[in-house]
Amino acid sequence: GAYELRVCCMGAGYVGGPTMAVIAKFCPRIRVVVVDISAKQIARWNRGDLPIYEPKLEELVAAQRNKNLFFSTEIDRNIKEADLIFVCVNTPTKATGFGAGAAADTKHVEACARMIAESATSDKIVVEKSTVPVHTAEVLNTVFEANSSTSVHFEVLSNPEFLSEGTAVSDLMDPSRILIGGNSTPSGQKAVETLVSIYEHWVARDKIITTNVWSSELSKLVANAFLAQRISSMNSISALCEATGADVSEVARAVGTDPRIGDKFLQVSVGFGGSCFQKDILNLVYLAESCHLPQVAAYWRSVVDMNEYQKNRFSKLIVSKLFHSVTNKKIAILGFAYKKDTGDTRETAAAAIIKALVAERANIHIYDPKVEKEDMIDELQYQGLAQCDIETIHVASSPYEATNKAHAIAILTEWTEFTALPYDRIYQDMLKPAFENNINTTPFSFFLTHPTPLSVLIFFFHRHYEIMFDFLKRPTLEDELFKMKFTAKSLL
Ligand code: NAD
Repeated sequence: GAYELRVCCMGAGYVGGPTMAVIAKFCPRIRVVVVDISAKQIARWNRGDLPIYEPKLEELVAAQRNKNLFFSTEIDRNIKEADLIFVCVNTPTKATGFGAGAAADTKHVEACARMIAESATSDKIVVEKSTVPVHTAEVLNTVFEANSSTSVHFEVLSNPEFLSEGTAVSDLMDPSRILIGGNSTPSGQKAVETLVSIYEHWVARDKIITTNVWSSELSKLVANAFLAQRISSMNSISALCEATGADVSEVARAVGTDPRIGDKFLQVSVGFGGSCFQKDILNLVYLAESCHLPQVAAYWRSVVDMNEYQKNRFSKLIVSKLFHSVTNKKIAILGFAYKKDTGDTRETAAAAIIKALVAERANIHIYDPKVEKEDMIDELQYQGLAQCDIETIHVASSPYEATNKAHAIAILTEWTEFTALPYDRIYQDMLKPAFENNINTTPFSFFLTHPTPLSVLIFFFHRHYEIMFDFLKRPTLEDELFKMKFTAKSLL
């Protein structure tokens, strides 16, 4: 037909949907069909009521849908018709069995390979885009060899995805690099060139890195492990700052201006969340253990341990600042998504904080601008909250409803809209039997950096300190801080 290449993508999730929409946009002569076993998911992509939230994604999909971008549940037919198949299915940490809690579950990837082997009647390039353990390509090859007719050739490539949720579309349109791993055989190199030619529609050739398959698979795990390690490193320093009176944002700035270190990803936080960091580090840890490298495994495991410590420390801080008891106290949680500009709640630190506070019998009211209630409930269940405890949690439809008559507010997602709230008004509506509260600098609070005569505690979590500085510059807030300091003085 008129198409120069036919592409099928298995998995219409956070990676498959946006990635294929961007390929369709830049490659008008490539036909892209995204398939999924979930009919509900496909129906939402087709309706335009997208199952995921990403800035600029809706317009992008609307512009390409039914031109050269299609969403379908007909997996067999679309495998048959494709020249190149992306495997973009989920690879969560195994919940049970060997390697439970550490190894990645590759059952969906293997299921894709079996479907491809079953349906294919012509040669296919099969591209692993899912994040997988090193040597998963071998599993795919073995499945293909054992289950298909000898006349069909399958060439497996690794092409991990580096997009970040919340900025997926701009990351895909202007990627830092594209990584493609392939075999050194002539057919391997030919397949690599086919995939390179897709990306070359909009990515400069010198940004496309080609490697062997194992380097490519491993690099994805290492990239996420390094990113998470920076967060854990800074979070460990935040505890030291609180103990010594150093200011963690000043330390981050002073350290990050060294170009060898860099200033990105040094903001302190309540801990990383998201579906990838923890999973991919544990995957790396499992790999190191399988290779009999216990020191390497322990080194990377400590990044996850530090993250648990930080979440725990933050929950304890809230309880201790509220006189060691939050029983029946209303606590507002602003933000449930694991970061701003996404509705994704997987492994969000907010759920861990809520779990700890509910165990202390706090009265939790959550507000998030993008997360749907059922997704909150699913994630709380997944992170181990009992059904009877989940029933005690309220989901508010506005930040005012969540914070009205609250004892404390914990801002757990750095949504931009939270920086523009009228905190003076919110403060007035909170509960406040006055008392003296002398609290040292903590990375989570800025009202608390001033001795205040308040029972109201507002905890702030900002990955992005720039936002926080803007926020502090707002006139109403400055007034408010001034008033508080003034009240504090007048009470002394
Ligand atoms: P997701 O859960 O959002 O989407 C996966 C989709 O695959 C689901 O819709 C599921 O129904 C579908 N699926 C499962 N088995 C299938 C099968 N046999 N055939 C067809 N469809 C099937 O997952 P995601 O966040 O898009 O992640 C996909 C992969 O990409 C994972 O390996 C992840 O580690 C990796 N990754 C994710 C991100 C991210 O930010 N989310 C970034 C980079 C890499």
